[in-house]
Amino acid sequence: MMTAQILDGKACASQIEKEIIAEVSKISRPPHLVVVIVGGDPASKVYVGNKIKTCKRLGIRSTLIEKEANISEDLLKSLIQELNDDDDVDGILIQSPLPNHLDEIMLTDLIDPLKDVDGFHPINLGRLVQGRTDGLIPCTPFGIIRLLNYYQIPLQGKQAVVIGRSRIVGMPMSLLLASQGCNATVTITHSKTEDLAEVVKRADIVIAAVGRAEMIDNTWIKPGCVVVDVGINRVDDASHERGWKLSGDAHPNVSSTASWVSPVPGGVGPMTVMMLMQNTVTAAKIRRQR
Ligand code: NAD
Repeated sequence: MMTAQILDGKACASQIEKEIIAEVSKISRPPHLVVVIVGGDPASKVYVGNKIKTCKRLGIRSTLIEKEANISEDLLKSLIQELNDDDDVDGILIQSPLPNHLDEIMLTDLIDPLKDVDGFHPINLGRLVQGRTDGLIPCTPFGIIRLLNYYQIPLQGKQAVVIGRSRIVGMPMSLLLASQGCNATVTITHSKTEDLAEVVKRADIVIAAVGRAEMIDNTWIKPGCVVVDVGINRVDDASHERGWKLSGDAHPNVSSTASWVSPVPGGVGPMTVMMLMQNTVTAAKIRRQR
């Protein structure tokens, strides 16, 4: 019976934080991140608050623009255009999810790729397809690679199974793991995958990015496997004062079989925020060098 070691995202993020602070101090003008939030989704507000707070700690300038949930698409388009044209702005982030009447993909595609600190623009995702990993990389997969490197988890030649194929996590994660530098052998799985448990059982590294609480349990896991749990799921829990807790996509019992597990919360989440900071600094540097 194994008890997995913890891939501590907080510890890793605080190490990277020091490096970013040093990087920021060498730039003449602090990098400037603009975060746009539309509507009052409570979870989004918490995420955005966290990003702004982290900017402050790192010496990154931030501006929060809050818009009413019923804002028209045209107004939002002109806001993005203004931010693109503003030389004082290094990074633009439109907090997801947007209200249903707004086309999120179309709107994020309007962001200047050089200011696309989320890394979701087709140009930035396309660069990843080309194997170019020196630009703006989606924060969650980028953070996961940094976390695995921090704990010196071997990736080269290993079997990595990514569960989920989203534009935000699964697909860029798969590309990064397969890229030169990581050199993992990658299997991309999704909602239509047959015998998912059997596929996962072959993995040396599992990245779970589905959004289903405790879906992956220890019967799916090869002994010694590394489990990175991306899922953030709210589940009822009467033992908590607020009546709910956060749970990952992996069942806690995976710890009995895996060698390493990332906790939820405290694993991938802090790394995602730190990579947003990293991308903001990178965006500032790239734009100012041009
Ligand atoms: P998404 O809904 O866009 O994608 C989910 C993916 O899971 C899809 O590709 C789908 O094919 C796959 N899927 C759905 N049901 C499945 C099943 N039964 N078996 C196998 N695959 C299945 O979600 P996302 O944006 O990629 O996010 C995934 C999870 O990660 C969510 O819980 C989200 O909250 C969390 N997340 C966490 C962070 C973080 O910083 N920790 C960042 C982004 C997303």
